[in-house]
Amino acid sequence: MLTRRDFLYAAGAGIAMLAPIPRALAGAYEVVIKGGRVVDPAAKLNAVRDVAIAGGRIAAIENNIATDGLQTVDARGKLVVPGLVDIHTHAARSKEMAATCLADGVTCFVDAGSMGADKIDEIVANARSAPNLGRVLINLSRTGVTPDGDLLDLNRADVSLARAAIERHRDMIVGVKARLSFNVAGAGDLEAVKRAQAVAGKLPVMIHIGQTVSSMPKILALLKPGDIVTHMYAPEPNSILDGNGRLFPEVLEARKRGIWFDVGNGRNGHLWWDVAERAMKQGFLPDTISTDWTPDGRAGAVVDFPNCLSKFLMLGMSLDQVIACGTNNAARTIDAFKDRGTLKVGAPADVAILELREGNFDFVDNYRNVRSGKQRLFPSATVLNGKLVPPRGA
Ligand SMILES: [Zn+2]
Repeated sequence: MLTRRDFLYAAGAGIAMLAPIPRALAGAYEVVIKGGRVVDPAAKLNAVRDVAIAGGRIAAIENNIATDGLQTVDARGKLVVPGLVDIHTHAARSKEMAATCLADGVTCFVDAGSMGADKIDEIVANARSAPNLGRVLINLSRTGVTPDGDLLDLNRADVSLARAAIERHRDMIVGVKARLSFNVAGAGDLEAVKRAQAVAGKLPVMIHIGQTVSSMPKILALLKPGDIVTHMYAPEPNSILDGNGRLFPEVLEARKRGIWFDVGNGRNGHLWWDVAERAMKQGFLPDTISTDWTPDGRAGAVVDFPNCLSKFLMLGMSLDQVIACGTNNAARTIDAFKDRGTLKVGAPADVAILELREGNFDFVDNYRNVRSGKQRLFPSATVLNGKLVPPRGA
C-alpha cells in the first residue's frame, strides 16, 4: 500500500496516483509509470507506453502493463524520458544544489570546473554525497573559477598538482576544464589547452569558448577526440563563425574527429540567439545541451534544465533531437554515464517525467534578447535508481 507520505510526494509532484493494488496481486515490478509518451532517442522510441521498474532497473516497456506495481505513477499527458544528463553544471559547489536539480529531472550531472586542485576535495565530497550520479571536471587553474581570471597568471595552471588531484579521486574526476575567454586566460589560451591536455591524458578536456584571444581554428587544433567544447553558441570575438557569419570548416572537421559541441547556457557571454540561429541554419546543431547551472542562473537566464531544452524547441529542433541532447548524447560524453541516458530494458531506472505545455513562453539568451516560443518543458517528477524522488520541499 502507498503510505501517506508516498502519496504526498506524488501529489506534490503533480503526479496523480492510481488506486493502489492489493499486495496479494503484486507482481515482480516495484513501480509502473502508466500512460506517458515515452521519448527515448537511444531506442528510437517515441510512443505512449507503460514503463515498469524492478530492482532499480527498467524491467519492461510495453503497451499496457498490469498495474501490479507497489507504486503506480500516472503519467498520462506527460513525457517520460531518460533521467536528464547535465554535463555542464556547478552543482557540487554546495551540498544542496544537486538535490535541487534532481527535482528538475537531472539524474546525472558533471560539476564542470568549479574548483581546481587547491579545493577539489570539497567539490568531490559534495558530488560523492549527492543523491544523483555526480562527477567532476577539475579546473586547470589550481584556484578554480575566480573573478580575477582563473588563468591570467598561468602559474596557476599547475600540471603536476592537478594530476595529483586526479590520482586521489580517479573514481570521481572524469576530466579537465579550461576556461579560455580573454578575461579568464588572456593571451595564454593556447598554452592553457596544452596544459589541460597534459593533465587529462586520455580523459576528456572541456574548453569554455567565446571571446578568446586566439581564433577558433587554432584552439580546435589542440583538441582530441572525446573532448568537449562548451558555450558553442557564444558570440565573437572568436566564435565558431567567421567574420561573415559562416561556420569555420575547422569546426565541422572537429566534429568529424569526435569532438563534442555543447550549449552551456549560463548567464553572461555564453549564448546569443543570432549565433545559435546562424550556426543551426548551416546545419550545426548541438551534440549536447547543458545548463551551466548555478543558483544565480535559476532566477531567469537558466531557470532549470527543462527550460534550457525548451529554448532549442523554440529554435526549431524536434522534441526527439532536444531530448537526445539532454540524455543519450550527453551520457556518451562521460564514461561513468555510459549505461545512462536511455530507458532500454536493463538500464538503471533513472527517469524524468516532464510536461510539455503549449502557450506563449519567453526565453532569454545571455544578452537580454527575448524570444517567444510556443512550447515549454516543465519538470514534473523524477525517478532515481527506481525510486520516486520527493519533490522540492517535501
Ligand atoms: Zn560553467
